[in-house]
Amino acid sequence: MSHDAPVPAANFIRNLIDEQNAAGKWGGRVETRFPPEPNGYLHLGHAKSIFLNFGLARDYGGVCHLRFDDTNPEKESQEYVDAIVESVKWLGFDWGPHLYFASDYFDTMYACAEYLIQAGHAYVDSLSADEMREYRGTLTEPGRDSPYRNRSVEENLGLFRRMRAGEFADGAHVLRAKIDMASPNLNLRDPVIYRIKRAHHHNTGDTWCIYPMYTYAHPIEDAIERITHSICTLEFEDQRPFYDWLLDKLADGGFFPRPVPQQIEFARLNLSYVVLSKRKLIQLVDEKHVAGWDDPRLPTLAGARRRGYTPEGFRRFTDQIGVSKSDGWIDYSVFEACQREVLNDSAPRRIAVLDPVKLIIDNYPEGQSEDCFAPNHPQQPDLGKRAVPFSKELWIEREDFMETPPKGYFRLFPGNPVRLRYGYVVQCTGCDKDENGNVTAVHCTYLPDTKSGTPGADSVKVKGNIHWVSAAHAYEAEVRLYDRLFKTAQPGQETGNFLDDLNADSVKVIRAQLEPSLRDAAPEERFQFERHGYFVADRVDSKPGAPVFNRTVTLKDSWQKTGI
Ligand code: ATP
Ligand code: MG
Repeated sequence: MSHDAPVPAANFIRNLIDEQNAAGKWGGRVETRFPPEPNGYLHLGHAKSIFLNFGLARDYGGVCHLRFDDTNPEKESQEYVDAIVESVKWLGFDWGPHLYFASDYFDTMYACAEYLIQAGHAYVDSLSADEMREYRGTLTEPGRDSPYRNRSVEENLGLFRRMRAGEFADGAHVLRAKIDMASPNLNLRDPVIYRIKRAHHHNTGDTWCIYPMYTYAHPIEDAIERITHSICTLEFEDQRPFYDWLLDKLADGGFFPRPVPQQIEFARLNLSYVVLSKRKLIQLVDEKHVAGWDDPRLPTLAGARRRGYTPEGFRRFTDQIGVSKSDGWIDYSVFEACQREVLNDSAPRRIAVLDPVKLIIDNYPEGQSEDCFAPNHPQQPDLGKRAVPFSKELWIEREDFMETPPKGYFRLFPGNPVRLRYGYVVQCTGCDKDENGNVTAVHCTYLPDTKSGTPGADSVKVKGNIHWVSAAHAYEAEVRLYDRLFKTAQPGQETGNFLDDLNADSVKVIRAQLEPSLRDAAPEERFQFERHGYFVADRVDSKPGAPVFNRTVTLKDSWQKTGI
């Protein structure tokens, strides 16, 4: 997919780039990056960042890098790297040769640290973690200088090299930037930039026993890649002074040309009815509240793909919500509406009976069948029609028959005529029941002259119009009816534990009777099942000739009305 729809509306980042381009700041270059940490699967929040970063590169003729910010080995893994690559590709983006790993820059980061020590901008501290916290001060009180702050350059360099060589235990020393312990911004009170940690890294193995802190590594990664606009979420706003301090010092040291990358913050996506925190997503998976990272109920991109959501729907959604500087909540129904709009345009129509009961046409010849013709898309006649077989015994929805109907019920009840969509008008004659009074079959007679598409079709006027599939031809399949994973808009808000708000009915697995052509659906093929919603052939559990289907989204939003 190329995403070549019109350029989205202006936002403060686009305005800034336009101004900078007019002033010639970057020589017209726009180089962004999407920098996930491979410590979990991507989620719907990441999609906002992906569309923003790759979208800017696309619209300004620039490039966007995919960079793994893998500086924290204990929580990272190759499985996550692979899943992230797959999801960004699925959304339709291509980083060309620009796939990078922060861990590939460990040598440069180390060299930068030695430079900072030599220039008097960093020192080795040997306070314990508790002491360091105490020395740090608070928002209202300035911090105090560590007794180790004035170590000589030689001593610092010696200690730092020995840290690298593995001579000290984890946590024995750290390297800190030397800035200002009295700064009103706590992030400038000599932040830690390296720590000792004996951890196996998914990329560098056991080469390193010291690792850079994220806040130190990230600006260097940006500068190495000559990023122009380093876009991150608002919680990093207070880190920007350190970002600027560090790159300024390193540019002075000749490591990077000026202008150095510029950090820009935007409001993260907060979406109701889901959780978008890796910690919570990991918990849902580990504790088996869902069936894995790609469970169609999870707001991961892997889950969204299996659920049947479309990349185009994601684009529509991210364009619609825009980019701003102030945090807010988006209702999940906005996301679903965008997906529905795309699916309404693109998904071919098919017939599915989800809660089947037999309809027997008593005056239709046994063993006979004929074709009826159903349009593939009512608004797109050029997509043509397909044949659906009709015969004496059909499956209809159980709710389309009532023995004693309430007022205003126009479907099947004894004596009432309805149209079998794309087929004949039938008149209900009664039903069979088991010993418990449950309806086991509905009976009717058909009016042979009323077949849809023939001159007599409209000779009998009816108010009801129901769908059906021929029992002898139907494809019986597993269908999973997914619903929201949480039953409250902000899971955990009341009780403090988001798990308390899990929706116990978030999936219902049924056996449905589907029109025969659905037997050939390829994995990830999407359809509208008439009257029911949008469905996708599951990409994991479908077998050739035996697809199973997931409900992506209902035709209408039912959550707003019920107020659950
Ligand atoms: P954590 O901090 O727990 O690792 P994270 O969601 O910040 O989680 P990253 O892998 O660091 O994970 O995120 C990659 C990029 O995606 C970052 O640039 C981050 O700003 C952006 N991002 C993450 N969550 C959201 C969100 N909800 N809305 C928009 N952007 C997001
Ligand atoms: Mg993060």
